[in-house]
Amino acid sequence: MNLRDRYGLTCIINAAGSFTPLGVSRSSADVAQAAAAALGQFLVIDQLQDAASVVISRFAGAEAGAVTHCVAAGITLSIAAAMTGTDATRIAALPNASGLNHRVVMPAGHAVNYGHPIEQDVRLAGAIPVLAGATEACSMAAIQAALAHAATACLLLVSSRLVRGNPIDLRQAVAEAHRRGVPAIIDGAAQDMRVGELIATGADLVLVSAHKYLASPTAGLVIGRRQIVEAVRAQHKGIGRGMKPTKEAIVGVLAAIEERQRLDVPQWRQAQAQKVSDFVARANQWGGIEARCEVDPAGMPFARVCLKADAKRARVDARAIVHALKSGTPSIRVMEHRLAEGALVLELVQLSENEVQIILRRLGELLD
Ligand SMILES: *Cc1c(COP(=O)(O)O)cnc(C)c1O
Repeated sequence: MNLRDRYGLTCIINAAGSFTPLGVSRSSADVAQAAAAALGQFLVIDQLQDAASVVISRFAGAEAGAVTHCVAAGITLSIAAAMTGTDATRIAALPNASGLNHRVVMPAGHAVNYGHPIEQDVRLAGAIPVLAGATEACSMAAIQAALAHAATACLLLVSSRLVRGNPIDLRQAVAEAHRRGVPAIIDGAAQDMRVGELIATGADLVLVSAHKYLASPTAGLVIGRRQIVEAVRAQHKGIGRGMKPTKEAIVGVLAAIEERQRLDVPQWRQAQAQKVSDFVARANQWGGIEARCEVDPAGMPFARVCLKADAKRARVDARAIVHALKSGTPSIRVMEHRLAEGALVLELVQLSENEVQIILRRLGELLD
């Protein structure tokens, strides 16, 4: 079905990565078929979550896993789980957290805005975010100090482009939380290819998006220790009602994880690297353009294309290039978070060869 014609939508090529306002990712035909099959059936959702737990925990090398509506929901429900455990009365009372320990310690640089402020996910559970250190630097001593007053959880973030300030040693931060008897939760929404590493930090829960690079229907994965994963699932009878995963999403997640497990990762990495280096080689032939491969700063196993325009020689600056790409047909969208330094960034992971060629042709017309 051509949705663009039917609903009058703009035709886009998305080189902006797994970006929510642009539909995040495209599922494979197998994943779409699995989700479609679920839509036509009644299923016992608890059994489906049990099956998901088996598949997710094997995928991540963890004790247990569950599916939530998305990662934002996973953050709220993980904090709720830390506060209430599986106590039905406490679960029903949220977001009223009176009588519960409800301070959630986060390094200040991890209080990001990924479309909305992450602190709001914490507050939605009835908890209060407590920021440790300063945005530009959060020492382990600052985390220790914040944890020294009763806290219910420590929330940490791993992201390629949102985190500010010096990187935090996750293992050490997790250990500090554990020294105080507090669970550590890592939001690694776009880090699905590194989930094993994040679990290995000792974190109690790692949250990963299933609709970003795993390319399933919209869903969040909550992965970690059995007891707290159970407490996350229990929230679906409380504030989690509006954050529940759909049956088609859970089935789509299972299909997407199975697809990932069949992926030949070294070969995939090689193909991604080739795609980026070919693009960079082409772009460097245009006058006034400096193109580079940039490895993912958070450690996802692929690179992006970074283009810088010398406004005099290229006759256009980065902003004008972004505008021209956006205004054409199809509308080409790129990452704009580094425009202030005159750079635009393209993520090619989810693009077909044909789409990459269209982008190169359009840039060539603009810059050659
Ligand atoms: C994308 C993202 C989220 C939100 O994920 P959703 O599944 O869309 O709710 C949260 N945290 C980080 C770091 C992200 O990159």
